[in-house]
Amino acid sequence: MQIPPPQNGLVTLIDQRHKEVAGRKPRPHMGASTLGHPCDRWLWLSFRWAVIEEFEGRILRLFRRGNNEEATILADLELAGVKVETTQAHFTFGGHVSGSADAIVSNVPEAPKTRHIAEFKTHSEKSFNGVAKDGVRKAKPEHWVQMQVYMHGAGLDRALYVAVNKNDDTYHIERIHYDKDAAEAAIERGRRISEADRMPEPVAGASPAWYQCKFCPALTFCHETKLTREVNCRTCAHSTAQSDGFWHCGVWNDAIPVPAQRLGCTSHVIHPDLTPWQPVDSPDGVIGVWEIDGKVEMNGDPEAGGRTSFDLINSQAPF
Ligand code: SF4
Ligand code: SF4
Repeated sequence: MQIPPPQNGLVTLIDQRHKEVAGRKPRPHMGASTLGHPCDRWLWLSFRWAVIEEFEGRILRLFRRGNNEEATILADLELAGVKVETTQAHFTFGGHVSGSADAIVSNVPEAPKTRHIAEFKTHSEKSFNGVAKDGVRKAKPEHWVQMQVYMHGAGLDRALYVAVNKNDDTYHIERIHYDKDAAEAAIERGRRISEADRMPEPVAGASPAWYQCKFCPALTFCHETKLTREVNCRTCAHSTAQSDGFWHCGVWNDAIPVPAQRLGCTSHVIHPDLTPWQPVDSPDGVIGVWEIDGKVEMNGDPEAGGRTSFDLINSQAPF
């Protein structure tokens, strides 16, 4: 009996399962790993779950490889005599900003008594060569900012950045000094953007062809439709991200737990910065009213005479 040829369908099935397992669950907090991103608008849109970045199964498997690498790097550090004090050190910075460093280590050969935040990153050949040549601050400013924020959270003034080339396992290891001003500015920026009611301005130079926009998940939103596709409490005009880290609903006058935020309710009204439509005065402050293509549309609970946000969004040309 002949063995059937390999089925590409199997790869498709594996990747489909990865997508299903990952689901569409954006993180609830503004993570330290995002604070070095150059665009305020992207930070706001992603924190508001207004544009949800989706990954192919292959990319999800690549993330898994990066995560799995952490154990290998820790083992190598210990092999060289570095003491791993803790892994996944979690820090909160007030409001909605938080993050977790990969580890806190000591007995680093160059400074045995100094405790370090440790951050591990796998790189493609090109990315690795950039870091090895120019250092993390210049080549990967997001990683540098992330470590500044972790050092601030831990009260430490050194970080150990471990970069691995995925092609050939070459290591590049750098010790980073704490920069108080940079750390505090990044945290303040995260708090300001996460608590902002209105959408911030786009990154300088924004256009469909601009390199920072070209590969941004919000490209279509920013430069074509101006309309969110997401219906959840964070895209609702009635929600507020409070400075105590909670979300509040103005309709129900209550805090909204994260699982409920993901679902929203039938009273959802699209946030005015997430539609291209002209707002019209609401009769009761609960129903939203829009002028869409010259027609007045009520947006909100159907029992109160509105059209749901799902319905309004889906009634637009497919995008
Ligand atoms: S498309 Fe450009 S302006 Fe819009 S969020 Fe992305 S980087 Fe910012
Ligand atoms: S009205 Fe509904 S969708 Fe809007 S914030 Fe309140 S609970 Fe969420």
